[in-house]
Amino acid sequence: MTIVTVGAFDDPIQAHIAKGRLLTEGISAYIADEHYIWANWSMSHALGGVKLRVSPDDKNKATSVLGKLYDGSYESYLSEEENEIACANCNGLVFVTFNTWRAKLSQIAVYLCFGFIIRLRNGKKKCKECGGVFKNDA
Ligand SMILES: [Zn+2]
Repeated sequence: MTIVTVGAFDDPIQAHIAKGRLLTEGISAYIADEHYIWANWSMSHALGGVKLRVSPDDKNKATSVLGKLYDGSYESYLSEEENEIACANCNGLVFVTFNTWRAKLSQIAVYLCFGFIIRLRNGKKKCKECGGVFKNDA
């Protein structure tokens, strides 16, 4: 049986999230090279990352699903269901959530001072329709 790679990830957890999305859409998916990366994270780039593979027959459908996963389409469905957040400028419902460089710098500072990594909360949302940015506190 031949299988084709439709995605490569630095982080095995991201590969499993993508695999879960494909399985949800009815596409059989397999993960390759995961254990090498778990054993030695620094080898991730040398090995080309953790690979997500599917049957050649499912390649186009899988690529389409992964595209929707990466562009936040599924995430926007969640925000619509959970709390109906709409853009204040245009009433758009599709957003990209991100953290500011200050939040990321704070995370690095905490790591350097205390030796642990704090989890960043989603600080801001950017509307994909008008580009408006606002705080994520709905
Ligand atoms: Zn907007």
